[in-house]
Amino acid sequence: MSTTSDLFGLTGRTALITGASRGIGRAIALGYAGAGADIALLARSTTALEELAGEIEGLGRRALVLTCDVTDRDQLRHSIVSTITEFGQIDILVNNAGGFSHAGPFVDLQPQDWSEVMQLNFETVVFLCRELGRHFLKRGSGSVLNISSIAGTAGVPMLSTYAAAKAAIVSLTRSLAAEWSSHGVRVNALTPGWISTELTKTFASDPEASAGLLSAVPAGRWGEPEDVVGAAIFLAGDSARLISGTCLTIDGATTAYAGGPAMLQFLGLGRIPA
Ligand code: NDP
Repeated sequence: MSTTSDLFGLTGRTALITGASRGIGRAIALGYAGAGADIALLARSTTALEELAGEIEGLGRRALVLTCDVTDRDQLRHSIVSTITEFGQIDILVNNAGGFSHAGPFVDLQPQDWSEVMQLNFETVVFLCRELGRHFLKRGSGSVLNISSIAGTAGVPMLSTYAAAKAAIVSLTRSLAAEWSSHGVRVNALTPGWISTELTKTFASDPEASAGLLSAVPAGRWGEPEDVVGAAIFLAGDSARLISGTCLTIDGATTAYAGGPAMLQFLGLGRIPA
């Protein structure tokens, strides 16, 4: 019989995490190391990865720094080979690297804008799922955690490229879960809401924009990267051994809030009563 620490720990596991240099990826890397895993850290910022590796080693775990642009297939292949050489195997893949560099009306978007966003947010995920999928299927075990977004489950005006890429991740997660479950390989996704990171700092640092945005978040606050960590550990570990194809939302009830603040105005209530 499994103990609670077996169920919620990751001792003896190895995880490869993309976009580990800051924000959500960094928090998951520290969380996984705290739960007992060794981690391969991928991103372009070597110094930030080296600093994180030092923190992980301070927790008594091993960390491998892999400076890598995840849109470059050769660099990704090299990172996978280095991780397997160093750790012997990979048990958990976290597809976290992503983001958007511009927003704007759909009719003004150029093919290049679509391909850039799809390349980083979706095609990289497809590539890593294929390369590591082969590794997991051969071993008869493995866990993939894809970081999507509430933008992938609801529409987002002015951000159609990113929302479409994140929706594609949700769909891929479900298809691979169905295809691989009988082989012992699980695939799940997280759909975070507004989390305070470099990606969102333009909104978070503008008091008016931030207040407007938080009016649609029943929890009334920005998420922190650490708010994502517990769910990421849970889905990667044995307590979720029969869970595959799930998209777990971490958004302070944002997507559960039908109508948003406009609904309260309609009901004649300025804000949610205590
Ligand atoms: P950050 O911008 O803080 O971090 C993004 C990470 O991705 C960094 O480590 C960055 O590292 C890495 N990265 C970006 N491009 C590349 C690339 N070409 N090659 C390698 N690494 C790359 O973003 P968040 O932590 O906020 O976002 C993490 C994930 O969570 C993303 O997929 C995002 O879409 C998703 N998400 C975020 C939400 C939020 O509100 N913050 C909400 C929902 C989902 P480096 O620059 O060093 O390469």
